[in-house]
Amino acid sequence: MTRAYNFSAGPATLPEPVLRQAQAELLDWNGVGASIVEISHRSAEFIAVASRAEADLRKLIGIPEDYAVLFLSGGATTQQALLALNFAAPGQVVDYVVTGHWGKTAIRQVKPYVTVHVAADGEPGGFRDIPPRAGWQLSPDAAYVHITANETIHGVEFRDTPDVGTAPLFADFSSSIASEPLDVSRYGVIYAGAQKNLGPVGVAVVIIRRDLLERSGQPRADIFDYRSHAARDSMLNTPPTWNWYLAGLVFQWMLAEGGVEEFARRNALKSQLVYQAIDGSGGFYRNHVAPAVRSRMNIPFFLPDETLTARFVSESKDAGLLALKGHKAVGGIRASLYNALPVEGAQALVAFMRDFQQRNG
Ligand SMILES: *Cc1c(COP(=O)(O)O)cnc(C)c1O
Repeated sequence: MTRAYNFSAGPATLPEPVLRQAQAELLDWNGVGASIVEISHRSAEFIAVASRAEADLRKLIGIPEDYAVLFLSGGATTQQALLALNFAAPGQVVDYVVTGHWGKTAIRQVKPYVTVHVAADGEPGGFRDIPPRAGWQLSPDAAYVHITANETIHGVEFRDTPDVGTAPLFADFSSSIASEPLDVSRYGVIYAGAQKNLGPVGVAVVIIRRDLLERSGQPRADIFDYRSHAARDSMLNTPPTWNWYLAGLVFQWMLAEGGVEEFARRNALKSQLVYQAIDGSGGFYRNHVAPAVRSRMNIPFFLPDETLTARFVSESKDAGLLALKGHKAVGGIRASLYNALPVEGAQALVAFMRDFQQRNG
């Protein structure tokens, strides 16, 4: 059996040791005579798995005690809607900085509940840059300011945490959480669907500064209430136990590999290799994002025409490089270089790019 290098944007590649461990203990977890997904989420065994995952994530990212950590089903998009329900009063203004596809999605999810003010918009510039902070039109009374830390489709990433004044900063970190050190205390809420950098799809991690849980927000059912989820340790209803367990194994693996500092080093190296291959190709490969905000995690790039793009996708797959086809919204090629994609994967991609250009350039 050979596992290919998998450049999928999400659900994405997982660390092989994690998959092997899950396989080895699938039928009988830790001697209980059943798999981890066949036992109660209220059992001592599962609660131990769940608490360890939270403790490991806190250690990995450096999450202060005054932040709650939730493991919830519903993905990142559901959290986008819950932000408005939990943290903004009906009709209150919320500020959004739009730097790509997911920023627009985030706005769509809250429009029924609040007054959205777009404080800055990268769309007129084709999402090739992040509008300079000095030009953002922040509202004086916004409930929060929302950014997308890394735009998975457009390949635009904040390289610094913006200062937004007194309103709490909320950030969608779905495709870059745990990819480098992060100062959690600069944020009110950090959320991420797991399927990019943390584990399998089906669970989202939500990190909330506890004082925000006191906000009354909007009329909502209990199940949409972060305070209720926090009070019940994310077990208000049956949590996605398999996903929580596997994410926990990924956290253990990341810590054992050296933590976020080590992944920052690897991710910088991988992305530099690919950007150098693009920029050094004499225009055969092109990436349009301003160098200062180029994503380290998702690199969209383009070939001279559609025929070559299609050939690149099919030949790279034959060469053991999976899922390089770009998102349909932008076309071209996209290489996602999450934590679990080894440096050798990026090296193999770059070697393939050079060879492909020699044969087709
Ligand atoms: C994938 C992704 C989402 C959507 O996640 P779902 O879990 O499918 O809802 C949202 N934001 C970003 C930045 C993403 O990469």
